[in-house]
Amino acid sequence: MRKRPIATNDPHIQALARIVGEQAILYRKEDLMAYDCDGFTVHRHLPRAVVFPNSTEQVAAVVKYCHEHDLPFLARGAGTGLSGGAIPLNGEVVISLTRMKRLLHVDLENRRAVVEPGFVNLKLTNSVAHRGYYYAPDPSSQYCCTIGGNVAENAGGAHCLKYGVTTNHILGLEVVLPNGEVIEIGGNGVPDPPGYDLLGLLTGSEGTLGIVTKITVRLLKNPEAKQTVLAYFDEVEDASQTVSDIISAGIVPAALEMMDQTAIEAVEAAAFPVGHPKDIAALLLIEVDGISAGIDEQINDILTICRRHHVREVKVAQSEEERARWWANRKTGFGAMGAISPDYLVQDGVIPRSRLPEVLREIADISRKYGLRIANIFHAGDGNLHPLVLFDASKPGETERALAAGSECLKACAAVGGSITGEHGVGIEKKEEMRFIFTDEEILAQTAIRDVFNPKNLLNAGKLFPTPERCVETKMPSTVK
Ligand SMILES: Cc1cc2nc3c(=O)[nH]c(=O)nc-3n(C[C@H](O)[C@H](O)[C@H](O)COP(=O)(O)OP(=O)(O)OC[C@H]3O[C@@H](n4cnc5c(N)ncnc54)[C@H](O)[C@@H]3O)c2cc1C
Repeated sequence: MRKRPIATNDPHIQALARIVGEQAILYRKEDLMAYDCDGFTVHRHLPRAVVFPNSTEQVAAVVKYCHEHDLPFLARGAGTGLSGGAIPLNGEVVISLTRMKRLLHVDLENRRAVVEPGFVNLKLTNSVAHRGYYYAPDPSSQYCCTIGGNVAENAGGAHCLKYGVTTNHILGLEVVLPNGEVIEIGGNGVPDPPGYDLLGLLTGSEGTLGIVTKITVRLLKNPEAKQTVLAYFDEVEDASQTVSDIISAGIVPAALEMMDQTAIEAVEAAAFPVGHPKDIAALLLIEVDGISAGIDEQINDILTICRRHHVREVKVAQSEEERARWWANRKTGFGAMGAISPDYLVQDGVIPRSRLPEVLREIADISRKYGLRIANIFHAGDGNLHPLVLFDASKPGETERALAAGSECLKACAAVGGSITGEHGVGIEKKEEMRFIFTDEEILAQTAIRDVFNPKNLLNAGKLFPTPERCVETKMPSTVK
């Protein structure tokens, strides 16, 4: 970062600069603009300042200062969040963890590693792969998102169907509480430790309970064998039924992903085309892994199920290179929307797998109702849908229509007993949709927990929860609208 002398009379900026160093703070408008949103670009707000601490001590000192001077603040990792969690709604001091990016310790004997929060997800697997290990949670953004951000969002990924999401791989956390105190929770991997499950509480709390400054994660041994299947279908219903039948046959694939026709059009027009036919209604990308014995049998069973549901073409990857190309095509699917639409909104609902055909039909109805195309790329195996609403923000009213269409997709998920988020969090984007699945009392029970950790509500205020209709939320900082 370029060193420029502090040129402001703002005493808070000067004090924060003394904590992190003059070279580790941004406060000029032109610099702050890069931090006015995250991956949810519909809302933009400038922070008061962005600080780049390089140690837990610096994070704690910044937080203590904000706490004592009633300054709103929030944590930020890579800013890839899709629900607006890192947007400084209240002119926050943004605490960027990107300089805290060290791999602190690898303990293969006990299958764990300790990282700083700014450590990029994929770098962990890359750091231990040569010794036969990997870190399982694999969000499609894993080449740039941070493990701190993954903890806050309880991130998932394509391979979380078999191996579980982030919370299943976190063994310990060091956390700076909103008053600046530092605590450690978990850490030794002992099953069922006494006391409350604070690891479970903090993981997925969307940066509202504390700032994570150190993370102990579980590492897994590479599977002995892996095979990947690509299946093309002329009817979405056939693809959906194949998903259901694979799971009910007792097969647990490592990943079971689906893309519909609009999504296929986008990935084929973007950076990693693989030659999918453009006239198919849906494709499935299915991966099985484990010990070598039994993999061929699982693949045969999967091929039989695909054929039973009128698959047009089905093939098994013939090389690691082919498998990697199929995955690059899938994992860059969100960004690929840019090839067919100026803007897109990613939604993130969950449904029981058996309701897939009817919910996809309903999403198609919503698309027609709002006159906006909706592409579907999703983790079909665990019922985690990602309707991508395509729109053009430069056309008057289209952003609002896209938001309304996205909200209606989530309502459809909730109506069949599902949820409004599977992995991207609530942030500011889905606050109101929390009402689709929680009563006022249930929301209040959760905000009461937040108030224990974050009594002044200075940390990431205005995120995650709506204001319950029958009560007035108190203790919001005065800047909160
Ligand atoms: C192309 C693309 C694909 C994606 N695919 C997936 C996917 O497959 N699965 C998935 O789950 N998500 C996915 N995401 C969403 C996003 O990448 C994840 O939510 C990720 O976990 C965010 O990490 P980050 O470092 O970018 O966090 P940020 O966006 O910077 O922050 C996210 C939230 O975490 C909080 N936070 C960040 N760091 C800390 C910390 N150290 N302590 C406390 N709170 C903190 C922030 O305050 C904010 O509320 C995708 C995003 C994109 C753009």
